Amino acid sequence: RKYNFSAGPGALPEEVLQQAQAELLDWHGQGLSIMEMSHRSDEYVGVAAQAEQDLRDLMGIPVNYKVLFLQGGATAQFAMVPMNLLRGASCADYIDTGIWSGKAVKEARRYAQINVAASTAGNNYTSVPAQSELQLTPGAAYLHYTTNETIGGVEFDYIPDSGDVPLVADMSSDILSVPVDVSRFGLIYAGAQKNIGPAGLTVVIVREDLIGQTLAGTPSMYDYKIHADADSMNNTPPTFGWYLAGLVFQWLKRQGGVEAMAELNRRKAAKLYAAIDASDFYGNPVAINNRSIMNVPFTLADATLEKRFLELAEAEGMLNLQGHRSVGGMRASIYNAVPEAAVDALIDFMQRFEKEQA
Ligand code: PLP
Repeated sequence: RKYNFSAGPGALPEEVLQQAQAELLDWHGQGLSIMEMSHRSDEYVGVAAQAEQDLRDLMGIPVNYKVLFLQGGATAQFAMVPMNLLRGASCADYIDTGIWSGKAVKEARRYAQINVAASTAGNNYTSVPAQSELQLTPGAAYLHYTTNETIGGVEFDYIPDSGDVPLVADMSSDILSVPVDVSRFGLIYAGAQKNIGPAGLTVVIVREDLIGQTLAGTPSMYDYKIHADADSMNNTPPTFGWYLAGLVFQWLKRQGGVEAMAELNRRKAAKLYAAIDASDFYGNPVAINNRSIMNVPFTLADATLEKRFLELAEAEGMLNLQGHRSVGGMRASIYNAVPEAAVDALIDFMQRFEKEQA
Protein backbone atom coordinates (compact mmCIF):
# COMPACT_ATOMS: atom_id res chain seq x y z
CA ARG A 1 0.00 0.00 0.00
CA LYS A 2 1.07 3.55 -0.75
CA TYR A 3 1.03 6.61 1.49
CA ASN A 4 -2.32 8.36 1.13
CA PHE A 5 -2.42 12.09 1.89
CA SER A 6 -6.01 12.50 0.68
CA ALA A 7 -8.18 15.08 2.44
CA GLY A 8 -11.31 13.02 2.21
CA PRO A 9 -12.10 10.26 2.02
CA GLY A 10 -8.84 9.96 3.86
CA ALA A 11 -6.52 7.14 4.88
CA LEU A 12 -7.86 4.36 7.08
CA PRO A 13 -5.68 2.32 9.44
CA GLU A 14 -4.26 -0.65 7.55
CA GLU A 15 -4.90 -2.89 10.54
CA VAL A 16 -8.61 -2.02 10.40
CA LEU A 17 -8.84 -2.75 6.69
CA GLN A 18 -7.15 -6.10 7.24
CA GLN A 19 -9.57 -6.95 10.01
CA ALA A 20 -12.55 -5.98 7.86
CA GLN A 21 -11.14 -8.03 5.01
CA ALA A 22 -10.61 -11.09 7.20
CA GLU A 23 -14.25 -11.08 8.29
CA LEU A 24 -15.80 -9.67 5.12
CA LEU A 25 -17.36 -12.87 3.81
CA ASP A 26 -18.15 -14.50 7.12
CA TRP A 27 -18.65 -12.20 10.06
CA HIS A 28 -17.85 -14.01 13.33
CA GLY A 29 -18.90 -17.40 12.02
CA GLN A 30 -22.38 -16.21 11.07
CA GLY A 31 -21.92 -17.33 7.47
CA LEU A 32 -22.66 -13.93 6.00
CA SER A 33 -21.11 -10.50 5.66
CA ILE A 34 -21.89 -7.76 8.16
CA MET A 35 -23.21 -5.87 5.11
CA GLU A 36 -25.84 -8.54 4.61
CA MET A 37 -27.00 -8.60 8.19
CA SER A 38 -30.24 -7.06 9.43
CA HIS A 39 -29.63 -3.88 11.39
CA ARG A 40 -32.26 -5.17 13.82
CA SER A 41 -30.44 -8.45 14.51
CA ASP A 42 -29.01 -8.92 17.98
CA GLU A 43 -25.54 -9.28 16.47
CA TYR A 44 -25.69 -6.01 14.53
CA VAL A 45 -27.30 -4.08 17.36
CA GLY A 46 -24.39 -5.29 19.50
CA VAL A 47 -21.83 -4.00 17.00
CA ALA A 48 -23.62 -0.65 16.77
CA ALA A 49 -23.91 -0.23 20.53
CA GLN A 50 -20.24 -1.13 21.06
CA ALA A 51 -19.18 1.46 18.49
CA GLU A 52 -21.19 4.11 20.32
CA GLN A 53 -19.73 3.09 23.68
CA ASP A 54 -16.19 3.17 22.32
CA LEU A 55 -16.72 6.65 20.89
CA ARG A 56 -18.16 7.77 24.23
CA ASP A 57 -15.08 6.39 26.00
CA LEU A 58 -12.64 7.93 23.52
CA MET A 59 -14.18 11.41 23.67
CA GLY A 60 -15.45 11.33 27.25
CA ILE A 61 -18.98 12.09 26.06
CA PRO A 62 -21.22 12.92 29.05
CA VAL A 63 -24.37 10.84 29.62
CA ASN A 64 -26.70 13.74 28.82
CA TYR A 65 -25.51 13.72 25.19
CA LYS A 66 -26.97 11.59 22.42
CA VAL A 67 -24.62 10.07 19.86
CA LEU A 68 -26.26 9.69 16.46
CA PHE A 69 -25.04 7.71 13.46
CA LEU A 70 -26.63 9.38 10.45
CA GLN A 71 -26.31 9.83 6.69
CA GLY A 72 -26.10 12.87 4.43
CA GLY A 73 -22.58 13.92 5.34
CA ALA A 74 -21.59 17.05 7.18
CA THR A 75 -23.40 18.91 4.41
CA ALA A 76 -26.77 17.65 5.63
CA GLN A 77 -25.81 18.98 9.07
CA PHE A 78 -25.48 22.46 7.58
CA ALA A 79 -29.30 22.28 7.30
CA MET A 80 -30.13 20.00 10.21
CA VAL A 81 -28.43 22.28 12.71
CA PRO A 82 -30.66 25.30 12.06
CA MET A 83 -33.76 23.14 11.54
CA ASN A 84 -33.32 21.63 15.00
CA LEU A 85 -31.51 24.21 17.06
CA LEU A 86 -33.23 27.49 16.19
CA ARG A 87 -35.95 26.52 18.71
CA GLY A 88 -38.11 29.56 18.00
CA ALA A 89 -35.27 32.06 17.60
CA SER A 90 -34.97 33.91 14.31
CA CYS A 91 -31.20 34.12 14.07
CA ALA A 92 -27.94 32.36 14.78
CA ASP A 93 -24.28 33.41 14.87
CA TYR A 94 -21.57 31.83 12.70
CA ILE A 95 -17.81 32.32 12.67
CA ASP A 96 -16.46 32.55 9.13
CA THR A 97 -12.98 31.07 8.75
CA GLY A 98 -13.02 29.70 5.22
CA ILE A 99 -14.74 27.54 2.67
CA TRP A 100 -16.49 25.05 4.95
CA SER A 101 -17.79 27.55 7.48
CA GLY A 102 -18.91 29.65 4.49
CA LYS A 103 -20.93 26.74 3.15
CA ALA A 104 -22.50 26.23 6.56
CA VAL A 105 -23.55 29.91 6.59
CA LYS A 106 -25.00 29.72 3.10
CA GLU A 107 -27.13 26.69 3.88
CA ALA A 108 -28.32 28.01 7.24
CA ARG A 109 -29.48 31.20 5.52
CA ARG A 110 -32.27 29.14 3.97
CA TYR A 111 -33.80 28.87 7.44
CA ALA A 112 -32.86 31.90 9.48
CA GLN A 113 -31.06 35.18 9.63
CA ILE A 114 -27.40 34.31 10.01
CA ASN A 115 -25.03 36.81 11.55
CA VAL A 116 -21.33 36.47 10.94
CA ALA A 117 -19.90 36.93 14.44
CA ALA A 118 -16.40 37.33 13.03
CA SER A 119 -14.67 36.65 9.74
CA THR A 120 -11.07 36.26 8.70
CA ALA A 121 -11.86 36.88 5.02
CA GLY A 122 -9.81 40.08 5.40
CA ASN A 123 -6.56 38.14 5.78
CA ASN A 124 -7.55 35.55 3.19
CA TYR A 125 -8.49 33.07 5.92
CA THR A 126 -5.01 32.60 7.28
CA SER A 127 -5.96 32.75 10.96
CA VAL A 128 -8.95 32.39 13.26
CA PRO A 129 -10.59 35.34 15.03
CA ALA A 130 -9.73 35.93 18.67
CA GLN A 131 -12.44 35.49 21.29
CA SER A 132 -12.44 39.28 21.80
CA GLU A 133 -13.35 39.78 18.14
CA LEU A 134 -16.54 37.71 18.29
CA GLN A 135 -19.67 39.83 18.04
CA LEU A 136 -22.39 37.68 19.52
CA THR A 137 -25.99 38.68 18.76
CA PRO A 138 -28.43 38.92 21.67
CA GLY A 139 -31.20 36.39 21.03
CA ALA A 140 -29.18 34.22 18.66
CA ALA A 141 -30.03 30.54 18.97
CA TYR A 142 -26.45 29.25 18.91
CA LEU A 143 -22.91 29.96 17.78
CA HIS A 144 -21.50 27.78 14.98
CA TYR A 145 -17.89 27.35 13.97
CA THR A 146 -15.63 24.99 12.06
CA THR A 147 -12.86 23.68 14.29
CA ASN A 148 -10.62 22.85 11.33
CA GLU A 149 -10.91 24.28 7.84
CA THR A 150 -9.90 21.29 5.75
CA ILE A 151 -9.07 23.29 2.63
CA GLY A 152 -7.34 26.30 4.17
CA GLY A 153 -5.48 24.26 6.79
CA VAL A 154 -6.64 26.61 9.56
CA GLU A 155 -7.53 25.18 12.96
CA PHE A 156 -8.87 26.81 16.12
CA ASP A 157 -6.39 26.72 18.99
CA TYR A 158 -9.14 27.49 21.51
CA ILE A 159 -12.79 26.69 22.11
CA PRO A 160 -14.86 29.86 21.61
CA ASP A 161 -16.98 31.03 24.51
CA SER A 162 -20.55 31.29 23.19
CA GLY A 163 -21.94 32.89 26.34
CA ASP A 164 -25.24 31.36 27.38
CA VAL A 165 -26.15 29.89 24.00
CA PRO A 166 -25.06 26.46 22.73
CA LEU A 167 -21.82 26.16 20.83
CA VAL A 168 -22.06 24.08 17.64
CA ALA A 169 -18.96 22.70 15.94
CA ASP A 170 -18.24 21.13 12.58
CA MET A 171 -15.38 18.79 13.53
CA SER A 172 -15.39 16.84 10.29
CA SER A 173 -11.66 17.01 9.74
CA ASP A 174 -10.22 17.04 13.25
CA ILE A 175 -12.55 14.97 15.40
CA LEU A 176 -10.57 12.43 17.48
CA SER A 177 -7.27 14.11 16.59
CA VAL A 178 -6.91 15.86 19.96
CA PRO A 179 -8.92 15.61 23.18
CA VAL A 180 -11.85 18.03 23.47
CA ASP A 181 -14.11 18.83 26.39
CA VAL A 182 -17.45 17.78 24.90
CA SER A 183 -19.36 19.45 27.72
CA ARG A 184 -18.37 22.84 26.24
CA PHE A 185 -20.51 22.07 23.18
CA GLY A 186 -24.22 21.89 22.49
CA LEU A 187 -23.63 19.90 19.34
CA ILE A 188 -20.67 18.42 17.47
CA TYR A 189 -20.94 16.92 14.01
CA ALA A 190 -18.52 15.23 11.64
CA GLY A 191 -18.63 13.46 8.32
CA ALA A 192 -16.91 10.14 8.94
CA GLN A 193 -14.58 10.01 5.97
CA LYS A 194 -11.51 11.58 7.57
CA ASN A 195 -10.82 10.32 11.09
CA ILE A 196 -13.77 7.96 11.65
CA GLY A 197 -14.38 5.59 8.76
CA PRO A 198 -15.74 5.38 5.24
CA ALA A 199 -17.90 8.08 3.62
CA GLY A 200 -21.64 7.67 4.04
CA LEU A 201 -21.74 7.94 7.82
CA THR A 202 -22.10 11.16 9.81
CA VAL A 203 -21.64 11.33 13.56
CA VAL A 204 -23.63 13.85 15.61
CA ILE A 205 -23.11 14.37 19.33
CA VAL A 206 -25.88 16.51 20.78
CA ARG A 207 -26.97 17.60 24.24
CA GLU A 208 -30.35 16.02 24.98
CA ASP A 209 -32.15 19.17 26.05
CA LEU A 210 -31.55 20.82 22.66
CA ILE A 211 -33.53 18.36 20.58
CA GLY A 212 -37.24 17.94 19.94
CA GLN A 213 -38.13 21.46 18.84
CA THR A 214 -37.68 21.36 15.08
CA LEU A 215 -38.86 23.96 12.60
CA ALA A 216 -42.30 23.27 11.18
CA GLY A 217 -42.02 21.18 8.04
CA THR A 218 -38.73 19.53 8.99
CA PRO A 219 -38.58 16.10 7.32
CA SER A 220 -38.46 13.31 9.89
CA MET A 221 -35.08 12.23 8.54
CA TYR A 222 -33.77 15.68 9.52
CA ASP A 223 -35.13 15.54 13.07
CA TYR A 224 -32.49 14.65 15.68
CA LYS A 225 -35.17 13.61 18.18
CA ILE A 226 -36.58 11.01 15.84
CA HIS A 227 -33.13 9.53 15.29
CA ALA A 228 -32.27 9.70 18.99
CA ASP A 229 -35.50 7.96 20.03
CA ALA A 230 -34.83 5.21 17.47
CA ASP A 231 -31.15 4.71 18.44
CA SER A 232 -30.25 5.94 14.92
CA MET A 233 -32.34 3.14 13.43
CA ASN A 234 -35.35 5.14 12.30
CA ASN A 235 -34.56 3.73 8.89
CA THR A 236 -31.81 1.40 7.68
CA PRO A 237 -28.62 3.03 8.93
CA PRO A 238 -25.31 2.96 7.02
CA THR A 239 -24.51 -0.40 8.56
CA PHE A 240 -21.13 -1.03 6.99
CA GLY A 241 -19.83 2.45 7.78
CA TRP A 242 -21.03 2.21 11.36
CA TYR A 243 -19.35 -1.19 11.77
CA LEU A 244 -16.11 0.06 10.25
CA ALA A 245 -16.17 3.16 12.45
CA GLY A 246 -16.42 0.77 15.38
CA LEU A 247 -13.26 -1.00 14.23
CA VAL A 248 -11.51 2.37 13.95
CA PHE A 249 -12.60 3.30 17.49
CA GLN A 250 -11.19 0.02 18.81
CA TRP A 251 -7.97 0.64 16.89
CA LEU A 252 -7.78 4.12 18.44
CA LYS A 253 -8.14 2.61 21.89
CA ARG A 254 -5.30 0.20 21.12
CA GLN A 255 -3.13 3.17 20.10
CA GLY A 256 -3.63 4.66 23.54
CA GLY A 257 -6.73 6.75 22.82
CA VAL A 258 -7.06 10.35 21.72
CA GLU A 259 -4.33 11.69 24.02
CA ALA A 260 -1.74 9.38 22.47
CA MET A 261 -3.04 10.21 18.99
CA ALA A 262 -2.75 13.92 19.74
CA GLU A 263 0.88 13.58 20.74
CA LEU A 264 1.65 11.72 17.52
CA ASN A 265 -0.40 14.16 15.42
CA ARG A 266 1.39 17.17 16.90
CA ARG A 267 4.75 15.57 16.22
CA LYS A 268 3.85 14.70 12.62
CA ALA A 269 2.55 18.21 11.92
CA ALA A 270 5.43 19.98 13.67
CA LYS A 271 8.06 18.25 11.58
CA LEU A 272 6.21 18.89 8.33
CA TYR A 273 5.72 22.60 9.08
CA ALA A 274 9.38 22.80 10.17
CA ALA A 275 10.43 21.40 6.79
CA ILE A 276 8.20 23.92 4.99
CA ASP A 277 9.52 26.83 7.06
CA ALA A 278 13.14 25.75 6.70
CA SER A 279 13.22 26.77 3.05
CA ASP A 280 12.04 29.57 0.82
CA PHE A 281 11.16 26.95 -1.72
CA TYR A 282 8.04 25.92 0.22
CA GLY A 283 5.52 28.16 1.91
CA ASN A 284 2.49 28.09 4.20
CA PRO A 285 0.73 31.38 4.96
CA VAL A 286 -1.25 30.35 8.05
CA ALA A 287 -0.61 32.01 11.43
CA ILE A 288 1.60 29.66 13.45
CA ASN A 289 -0.94 29.06 16.24
CA ASN A 290 -3.74 28.31 13.78
CA ARG A 291 -1.92 25.87 11.57
CA SER A 292 -3.92 22.69 11.21
CA ILE A 293 -2.34 19.51 12.50
CA MET A 294 -4.56 17.50 10.11
CA ASN A 295 -4.39 19.33 6.76
CA VAL A 296 -1.12 20.97 5.78
CA PRO A 297 -1.40 23.09 2.61
CA PHE A 298 1.82 24.35 1.10
CA THR A 299 2.95 26.12 -2.03
CA LEU A 300 6.05 25.83 -4.17
CA ALA A 301 7.84 29.12 -4.83
CA ASP A 302 7.65 28.27 -8.52
CA ALA A 303 4.12 27.09 -9.22
CA THR A 304 5.12 25.73 -12.62
CA LEU A 305 6.91 22.91 -10.77
CA GLU A 306 3.71 21.64 -9.15
CA LYS A 307 2.93 19.11 -11.81
CA ARG A 308 6.41 17.60 -11.65
CA PHE A 309 6.29 17.57 -7.84
CA LEU A 310 3.05 15.59 -7.90
CA GLU A 311 4.26 13.18 -10.56
CA LEU A 312 7.51 12.39 -8.78
CA ALA A 313 5.78 12.08 -5.41
CA GLU A 314 3.29 9.68 -6.90
CA ALA A 315 6.08 7.66 -8.48
CA GLU A 316 7.52 7.27 -4.97
CA GLY A 317 4.18 6.09 -3.61
CA MET A 318 2.88 9.32 -2.11
CA LEU A 319 -0.66 9.92 -3.30
CA ASN A 320 -3.17 12.76 -3.31
CA LEU A 321 -0.89 15.68 -2.48
CA GLN A 322 -2.67 18.07 -4.82
CA GLY A 323 -4.34 21.01 -3.06
CA HIS A 324 -8.09 21.53 -3.23
CA ARG A 325 -9.24 22.53 -6.70
CA SER A 326 -10.47 25.88 -5.37
CA VAL A 327 -7.08 26.99 -3.99
CA GLY A 328 -4.42 25.00 -5.86
CA GLY A 329 -0.98 24.34 -4.43
CA MET A 330 -0.27 21.23 -2.40
CA ARG A 331 -1.94 19.77 0.64
CA ALA A 332 -0.84 16.89 2.80
CA SER A 333 -3.68 15.57 4.93
CA ILE A 334 -2.13 13.72 7.82
CA TYR A 335 -5.10 12.21 9.62
CA ASN A 336 -4.82 9.74 12.50
CA ALA A 337 -4.34 6.81 10.13
CA VAL A 338 -1.42 8.39 8.24
CA PRO A 339 1.70 6.89 9.81
CA GLU A 340 4.60 9.04 10.91
CA ALA A 341 6.72 7.17 8.35
CA ALA A 342 4.56 8.73 5.62
CA VAL A 343 5.36 12.21 6.90
CA ASP A 344 9.06 11.35 7.12
CA ALA A 345 8.99 10.06 3.56
CA LEU A 346 7.25 13.22 2.35
CA ILE A 347 9.77 15.49 4.07
CA ASP A 348 12.64 13.52 2.61
CA PHE A 349 11.07 13.77 -0.84
CA MET A 350 10.46 17.52 -0.49
CA GLN A 351 14.09 18.11 0.44
CA ARG A 352 15.38 16.06 -2.47
CA PHE A 353 12.97 17.74 -4.88
CA GLU A 354 14.16 21.18 -3.80
CA LYS A 355 17.84 20.23 -4.23
CA GLU A 356 17.10 18.84 -7.66
CA GLN A 357 15.78 22.25 -8.75
CA ALA A 358 18.78 24.23 -7.47
N1 PLP B 1 -17.08 20.34 6.77
C1 PLP B 1 -15.76 20.12 6.68
C2 PLP B 1 -14.83 20.78 7.64
C3 PLP B 1 -15.27 19.28 5.67
O1 PLP B 1 -13.95 19.05 5.55
C4 PLP B 1 -16.18 18.67 4.78
C5 PLP B 1 -15.77 17.76 3.70
O2 PLP B 1 -14.85 17.38 3.29
C6 PLP B 1 -17.55 18.94 4.92
C7 PLP B 1 -17.94 19.78 5.94
C8 PLP B 1 -18.56 18.33 4.01
O3 PLP B 1 -18.68 17.01 4.36
P1 PLP B 1 -19.54 15.95 3.54
O4 PLP B 1 -18.84 15.75 2.25
O5 PLP B 1 -19.49 14.77 4.47
O6 PLP B 1 -20.91 16.48 3.38
